[in-house]
Amino acid sequence: MATRDEMLQELGLFPVWRRRTADRPPADPHEGANETNAARRTADVAIAADAPTAAIKAAATIVPADERAARIARLEWAEFAADVDACTACGLARTRNRSVPGVGDRRADWLFVGEAPGADEDAKGEPFVGQAGRLLDSMLAALGIARGNHVYIANVLKCRPPNNRTPEPGEAEACRPYLDRQIALIAPKLIVALGKSAANALLGVDATIASLRGRAHRYRGVPLIVTYHPAYLLRSLPDKAKAWEDLILARRTMRESGSAAVATGAAVSDPPG
Ligand code: URA
Repeated sequence: MATRDEMLQELGLFPVWRRRTADRPPADPHEGANETNAARRTADVAIAADAPTAAIKAAATIVPADERAARIARLEWAEFAADVDACTACGLARTRNRSVPGVGDRRADWLFVGEAPGADEDAKGEPFVGQAGRLLDSMLAALGIARGNHVYIANVLKCRPPNNRTPEPGEAEACRPYLDRQIALIAPKLIVALGKSAANALLGVDATIASLRGRAHRYRGVPLIVTYHPAYLLRSLPDKAKAWEDLILARRTMRESGSAAVATGAAVSDPPG
């Protein structure tokens, strides 16, 4: 049995996995937006609920949420990013600098899903480009993959919540059709949910990371592994070894995916409903 330091070295993270302070970590691995089962009544409107102006009201095009979701479900890659950029379905459209649709190999086997863009991502329009992103890149390297090479990276939210606050359920709900469409277009062999927000959103549960780790779940039939958010790992030394175990499980599940072997490599659980 390798020591923790040996494991971290094998993961290629030993010099990287240090406590840092400047990123946008969630307060703990258990925080984040909760996927709700509320009816999808979100309207695609450019109205600020707190301070709507007459001009914005006049310009708003109200589209029922299910109609909007159906339209997004038909988007192709060529129109996807522009559609996200034009989205006004929630208030984050008013505060973002850039939308952050996602990045990577559009036919990737691996899909990593985080919570929401932070300040660096909001400035660049690309997910995971800050300190947490550097750690994510190291995690990918440990798996023998790299950003854009067999990997796609996305977030539950495509726009930054002000001050990096936890996404609100309505925001996750409004953004959900985009994530669903991305996953359908990519058709990954395996999804890694980074942190509680992503795990709960994708699995339709309200559970802790601790209760979700250690086994393969499924999102619409695709094996899904839950691990800690890299921003949290930057602050929490004890959980880094656990994240390494999660990556080993992810790699094993990937190797076994496409056959009944997912069930032999790990207990597979489907989300309720
Ligand atoms: N944290 C996330 O969840 N996503 C990013 O893109 C950056 C930080």
